[in-house]
Amino acid sequence: MTGHAERVETAIIGGGHAGLTMSYSLSQLGLEHVILERGRVGERWRSERWDSFHFQFPNWTIELPGYKYQCNDRDAFAPGHEVVRFLDDYASFIKAPIRCGVAVTSLEQGSRAGRYLIRTQDSAIEAANVIIATGPFQRPTIPPVSAQVPIDLFQVHSSKYRNSDQLPSGAVLVVGSGSSGGQIAEELIEHGRQVYLSVGRHRRVPRRYRGRDYGWWSSAMGILDQTLDRLPSPEAKNWPLPLLTGVNGGHDLDLRRMAAEGVTLLGHLQSVTGNTLIIAPDLEETLAKADVWFTDFKKLVDDYVAKTGMDVPKESQPLDGVAEPKVLSNPILELDLNAAGITSIVWATGFRNDFGWVKLPIFNDSGDPVHRRGITSFPGIYFLGLRWLYKRKSYFLVMAGPAEDAAYLAEHIKT
Ligand SMILES: Cc1cc2nc3c(=O)[nH]c(=O)nc-3n(C[C@H](O)[C@H](O)[C@H](O)COP(=O)(O)OP(=O)(O)OC[C@H]3O[C@@H](n4cnc5c(N)ncnc54)[C@H](O)[C@@H]3O)c2cc1C
Repeated sequence: MTGHAERVETAIIGGGHAGLTMSYSLSQLGLEHVILERGRVGERWRSERWDSFHFQFPNWTIELPGYKYQCNDRDAFAPGHEVVRFLDDYASFIKAPIRCGVAVTSLEQGSRAGRYLIRTQDSAIEAANVIIATGPFQRPTIPPVSAQVPIDLFQVHSSKYRNSDQLPSGAVLVVGSGSSGGQIAEELIEHGRQVYLSVGRHRRVPRRYRGRDYGWWSSAMGILDQTLDRLPSPEAKNWPLPLLTGVNGGHDLDLRRMAAEGVTLLGHLQSVTGNTLIIAPDLEETLAKADVWFTDFKKLVDDYVAKTGMDVPKESQPLDGVAEPKVLSNPILELDLNAAGITSIVWATGFRNDFGWVKLPIFNDSGDPVHRRGITSFPGIYFLGLRWLYKRKSYFLVMAGPAEDAAYLAEHIKT
């Protein structure tokens, strides 16, 4: 097969915003390349987000190198289809040499020295350089406890959830309280569903504080530009993402407020015995830990304002004003699915890597890529768009997240 392989100098695998950004940087240096994308430009924003999804940072943060999102209200939050439009427009703007509908099935050492063989569903390509830009959130994770769930319950991962109508009538259990679980629980309540939310580790932050958006403070205080060696503690690398939404003009997802609006909060889902959910007695502790992040963030801002002498108002909203939900003093530790009327489960339990198709020894025992700023030990093999590839923002679309990393890799490829 290698005898008939097409030859290209550089191949980018993945046509999300990281792949497009890489393409921009290579073009800036006049380096020939091709992007291989199994679906369409920005496929995950098209087929792995629910209908009501909105970008979680204000419009003014949406940009890629040389191109800003065009909109009427820079402080509003873009719906998912606008993010797709932005990526489509960017691909046209940079004249991205993208081949859509080309799924890479393996990447391995080529038969010629210094060349790699990329197999796709129906062809083979040889390249001297390959940039793997297949995303930080690849394969949906559903915990093993799902196998204990009675078979007549409808189960769906958040990446396949679209809207309330997709679920059978009845109450819904949402497992996981990151932004996906929080946003989906909120949407279901608005559609008149009864919702049980199994609360996991989450990072509570204010959407707005002292007149500015969370994204504004994160940018101004250098949080998005933090590198691993500048974190307050080694554990900070694994902090959950902030719990926010851009829906209805944007707001924080305060779980106490959601409880007041009808969501029944539960601790971690431990197991299922017959028709009974067994719940850990950890809800109060989990909420208390999330509160520490909330308090710390406000203090960080207050200290920054004091240090810089910025002229911003004091916070006028009572951000901590919601009463403790009753389930804290009287936690639910067992829940009968039938009695609760639960007919479906949304697993908002995150994603993991999926690099099984890369047949090169460039991964550690946990399956994570081993690299330094995206450069691996195999000459010509690179990663882009991973969490903490270099900076906190390395994988975000916000503030042209991977732009600096892509420029760095393009320079490395050129020399
Ligand atoms: C629910 C959710 C909400 C989010 N909200 C925000 C937000 O508001 N703001 C923000 O900045 N970030 C947000 N993110 C993070 C953001 O989605 C990712 O950081 C971003 O998509 C990463 O871009 P990427 O180009 O690296 O990867 P992706 O967007 O995942 O693109 C990778 C591309 O590679 C393609 N691909 C994968 N495997 C192959 C293969 N074998 N062959 C060919 N092509 C392949 C995929 O089809 C895909 O198009 C969110 C993530 C999730 C899960």
